[in-house]
Amino acid sequence: MGRTRILILGGTTEARQLAGALADRPDLDVLMSLAGRTKEPATQGVATRIGGFGGSAGLAGFLAEEKIDLLIDATHPFAARISRNAAEAASLVRVSLFALRRPGWQPVEGDRWQSVADVEAAFAALPQEASRVFLAIGRQEAHHAETLPQHFYLVRSVDPIDPPLSLPRLVSVLAKGPFSLEDELALLRAHAIDIIIAKNSGGTATHSKLEAARALGIEVLMVERGEAADVPAVHTIEDAISRIDHFISVTMKRGV
Ligand code: NAP
Repeated sequence: MGRTRILILGGTTEARQLAGALADRPDLDVLMSLAGRTKEPATQGVATRIGGFGGSAGLAGFLAEEKIDLLIDATHPFAARISRNAAEAASLVRVSLFALRRPGWQPVEGDRWQSVADVEAAFAALPQEASRVFLAIGRQEAHHAETLPQHFYLVRSVDPIDPPLSLPRLVSVLAKGPFSLEDELALLRAHAIDIIIAKNSGGTATHSKLEAARALGIEVLMVERGEAADVPAVHTIEDAISRIDHFISVTMKRGV
């Protein structure tokens, strides 16, 4: 039997970590796929292709053409479209698929979170009076802030927002996690933030803003995840590797 061909849909720390853990395995041929959103993506440790596939049909065609044996959806929990496409494409061309998805954060004692269904609902939940808002939802949906220009906004993103936000009271910060608790406390204090809009992404890299919010008694409008595509999912790199090994042993037994 030849090497097992794996396509990882990436764009997350976990995808990169998984690729790193698989890179030296002689029994695997691993390809990483990135959407191409980040201008200078981190190196992934395995062969990488960049750009969309052209919907689920495009991805299905790619899986067949590249003779992919196993598809792993390790995209961000808020990247819903590509996850849906992955589920459709895999079933179309009968390629095995599982998701590597970090669990969401749960509030603990002292947290002042209000859960909201989406970014629009988060803005609708902002107080009427002018507030000082830390927008930590990435760049794609930040433009909603323009509908409520009475607030001050501190906006953090990895790449610049394009077109730039047109807001009278705006500070933009370009930065990529992981962020330390100390730095998050300093940032929230420096801008006298009184409310945070965040996505329930999970993971450790961007968690410290929530610890800082707890320490300072700051309210968090937490955008929750939509329903995940109905595919088997694991939460850790170790479980992803076990699942890959299981897949290989089953296909070897079947002699495919
Ligand atoms: P999305 O809305 O689910 O996907 C939009 C389109 O982008 C997809 O239909 C697909 O285009 C393309 N695409 C997305 N991920 C891809 C991948 N890994 N490889 C090739 N094409 C991909 O996704 P998104 O929210 O824009 O996120 C884009 C990327 O950023 C993902 O890799 C995700 O893991 C990462 N990311 C997203 C967030 C977030 O909050 N949404 C945060 C951090 C990182 P086609 O239909 O043409 O194939």
